[in-house]
Amino acid sequence: MRSHDPIIAIATAPGRGGIGIVRISGNSLQPLLARLFSMELKARHAHYLPFEDNEGKVIDAGIALYFPGPNSYTGEDVLELQGHGGPAVLRRLLAHCLQTGRDLGLRHAEPGEFTQRAFLNERLDLAQAEAVADLIDASSEAAARSAMASLSGDFSNRINALAERIIRLRMLVEATLDFPEEEIDFLEKYQAREGLAAIRHDVQALCAQARQGMILRDGLHVVLAGQPNVGKSSLLNALAGDDIAIVTPIAGTTRDKVIQQIHIEGVPLHIVDTAGLRETEDAVESIGIARTWGEIEKADLIAHLHDARLPNDALDSAITGRLPARTPILQVFNKIDLLEDAARAQLLSSAAESIGISAKTGEGLDVLRARLLAIAGWNPGAESPWLARARHLDALTNTESHLQAADEHASRNDQVLDLFAEELRLAHEQLSAITGQFTSDDLLGEIFSSFCIGK
Ligand code: GDP
Ligand code: ZN
Repeated sequence: MRSHDPIIAIATAPGRGGIGIVRISGNSLQPLLARLFSMELKARHAHYLPFEDNEGKVIDAGIALYFPGPNSYTGEDVLELQGHGGPAVLRRLLAHCLQTGRDLGLRHAEPGEFTQRAFLNERLDLAQAEAVADLIDASSEAAARSAMASLSGDFSNRINALAERIIRLRMLVEATLDFPEEEIDFLEKYQAREGLAAIRHDVQALCAQARQGMILRDGLHVVLAGQPNVGKSSLLNALAGDDIAIVTPIAGTTRDKVIQQIHIEGVPLHIVDTAGLRETEDAVESIGIARTWGEIEKADLIAHLHDARLPNDALDSAITGRLPARTPILQVFNKIDLLEDAARAQLLSSAAESIGISAKTGEGLDVLRARLLAIAGWNPGAESPWLARARHLDALTNTESHLQAADEHASRNDQVLDLFAEELRLAHEQLSAITGQFTSDDLLGEIFSSFCIGK
């Protein structure tokens, strides 16, 4: 997995731009620098130079920056060539460097390979390395702020502080294991269970925050479900502020799903418009309906749309009965613009799980947006200060189960200190996986391969 070849990539986004950057990293770039430039580059100084090919023809003129390791992004020697940001000129510069350095082992970087080296050289821990990709991929300002907080180590520091506390408790236990006659007293003498309870309390709080951080990173899948013609496509368009799905008065128009990403308070929502649910003989429409049920199964949240004029429709009750019990559901009564004032007022003041809107006039949509977030478990006051991934939440959940198991051993007070200690060890291992102290090559490969080239 670990390789020491010098690597090169265009670090800026493909396409045109004011500036384009070619980046090279390697254990010792001196021989390559000597070939590329007639002068010696001073460390961390901006040199304005012509970048010349092997025949002395100028490819571009720009800035060369040399960062000798270990004080660089990757921890190795890094060279940055900043030229003009056009694809052709950058490709020429890249090709020239590759040709010049080929017999020194210089090769194209894999996706994320620069950051992977930064991790392996301990310039960043794993959660911070992931935050690099999350910052680049952030789809809202809130997500970008949180990714930056992770990158600067806020999340890692909390993990490390908890790991420290688990280690201290382990050390006490293990010291006691060497003096078996003291085992029974240990738990009381050091208030081990109280210490453990305090740690669990903080792990649980971190889990809740990680859940928020995950919502901010990955967003929520909201499925608009309901009979044909209740206004699902109209609602999607109204939420997206754009004509994405086809709206027609003919029932059964949306035959396949349409997904649109919108942001509410910086939280990405992937809104899925589906084929209307009804009995049908039409083969194509049946496939759409089957897919709708597939989407419903995968949803984080279901908005079940009704025609507000038919609040007690039999088919709607049948649909409600088939919706998965584990998924939060919001009952949405659309077309309230067609209701009498009294009926409308009643719907607008209805309970938390149901709401009246008009996709046509926009009435009720603000309340709908807020309800969607609230029902999905988003807590706006507790916006996660850092982004989290499913991997982090899994590790935190596993940490908590081992701590719980440790507490169960302690509660029996049956001289099972070695089991108590073993659960603490496992909890610590889970927690440390977040920052990358215990990781497999497979996991590293999976994480870094999803990066963009040049990062
Ligand atoms: P879908 O089959 O559930 O996707 O429903 P559509 O969005 O295609 O809408 C069906 C019909 O209802 C169209 O003629 C829409 O213009 C109309 N419609 C949708 N929402 C409203 C609304 O809030 N008020 C009124 N008056 N008509 C609506
Ligand atoms: Zn539709």
